Amino acid sequence: MRTLASALRLHHAGASPMKRCLSTHVTNIACNDDEPGFLDSVETFYDRAAKLSGVSEKTLTAIKAVDSVLSVKFPVEIDADTHIIIEGYRAQHSRHRLPSKGGVRFSDEVDLQEVEALASLMTFKCAIVDVPFGGAKGGVKLNPKKFTPKQLERITRRYTMELCQKNFIGPGIDVPAPDVGTGPREMSWIMDTYCQFNPQDVNAAGCVTGKPISLGGVRGRNEATGLGVYYGIREFLQYLEVQRMTGLNGDIAGKTVIVQGFGNVGYWAAKFFENNGAKVIGIGEHDVAAYDPNGLNIQSIFKHRAKKGSFRGFGNAAILQNPLSILERECDILIPAALERQIGLKNVKKIKAKVIGEGANGPTTPAAHDYLVSQGKVVIPDLLLNAGGVTVSYFEWLKNLSHVRFGRMSREWEEAGKEKLLTLVEASAGRQLTPQERRAVVHGAEEHELVYSGLEDTMMGACEETRATAAAKNTDLRTAAMINAIQKIATVTEKSGKMFL
Ligand code: NAD
Repeated sequence: MRTLASALRLHHAGASPMKRCLSTHVTNIACNDDEPGFLDSVETFYDRAAKLSGVSEKTLTAIKAVDSVLSVKFPVEIDADTHIIIEGYRAQHSRHRLPSKGGVRFSDEVDLQEVEALASLMTFKCAIVDVPFGGAKGGVKLNPKKFTPKQLERITRRYTMELCQKNFIGPGIDVPAPDVGTGPREMSWIMDTYCQFNPQDVNAAGCVTGKPISLGGVRGRNEATGLGVYYGIREFLQYLEVQRMTGLNGDIAGKTVIVQGFGNVGYWAAKFFENNGAKVIGIGEHDVAAYDPNGLNIQSIFKHRAKKGSFRGFGNAAILQNPLSILERECDILIPAALERQIGLKNVKKIKAKVIGEGANGPTTPAAHDYLVSQGKVVIPDLLLNAGGVTVSYFEWLKNLSHVRFGRMSREWEEAGKEKLLTLVEASAGRQLTPQERRAVVHGAEEHELVYSGLEDTMMGACEETRATAAAKNTDLRTAAMINAIQKIATVTEKSGKMFL
């Protein structure tokens, strides 16, 4: 590493929310210039829910404030003759429970406000799904496509070094995970760097989630957010009030689905909808969108994109040169799963979907949200619907702290117990089960089955709680989910006595 000193700003924001100018990417093709930036949108949604929450003003002010922010600039050697300065951030919005938790994003668009907005969403998300963590988020300002794996590794390790030195990472402090532009590979580098700084920490694997299985990851984490999106939408379709509002029945089979963003969340959401009989008729990416009213084969289009780098030339699909226009096509369910601020006042009136399931964080501006709700559309909000990722991250963290794979100590025992029970039942019924029947009953759960089941149970419970609050307060699902989060966080904040110190 060259000798340039790293510049650091370590900011403890205290109890007063920071004033800010409009974000650099406030203007985009979906939003009017005067629509709020991402952080202002999150705060608008918070303020609406706060009014209905019955929580005291003092507590509400404390919950809203971003707790701590780390802002770093560090040099990285790109080749023998060149080094560049990289900007990185980590915001811990709330530490009412520890560790704080949230992904790390690698994107050109990263700035402090985006990271703060995402960190606060994490706080509310964890509360909604009863994951006992505070909220955090990190970001590194770069386009990962412009760097080689070796360069990305150097940047990730250097960023982690900053987190280690400033005490912004650790299994009991703050635990990153994948987000836009990062995945299991980056999480391995983060873990390895943390281990080098903390060789004595026996729980070091719990310093980051979304790791490969071989390095302490949990089976099911990769697909968790998309699977949670599927479970959540499936759940809402079962509700009679949703069926009345949308005219849709409760079956997934036969529903038409459009997904924006074919990365981790979008790919897996599309896959689970397809596996359960829905027809994915459109997928939007950053360059173009693919549309086929007869349904796109998810595995084939995934392979095509991996080989050609784009959807162009895929089967019979129509290729839309304006990818954002895919959001405006007729469909039952629309899943924005790319980035924030994709549905704003410029395009919201053209949205025809009956259910909008937010896979991405912050895809809808407040004004666009209000318009959709006024039209009787069902908007299932990000802080509820994409909470599957952090739910399974929680399972991974538990696995790391317990140092044992889920099911390892109980599977054999459960199978033996069920074998004995079946033998007794067969003897009294006078009929022998076929080997297939016996296997289906006896089979003890594998790790991924336990993870799927824990995720499904969590999403079903959180959807039901949100629905109940929406009915009790006569409000929309986003406000209802936020009310539930605020009330849960307020209980912890007030009972701990921390805010009165
Ligand atoms: P990713 O990087 O794996 O995928 C994002 C995809 O969106 C990429 O394929 C990218 O090319 C595409 N994209 C970028 N700009 C686009 C545009 N303008 N239009 C259409 N597509 C575009 O990221 P991800 O992990 O899938 O995250 C997607 C969203 O879901 C983000 O908002 C993220 O914060 C949120 N999220 C992710 C997780 C997770 O576990 N990964 C959990 C909760 C929420």
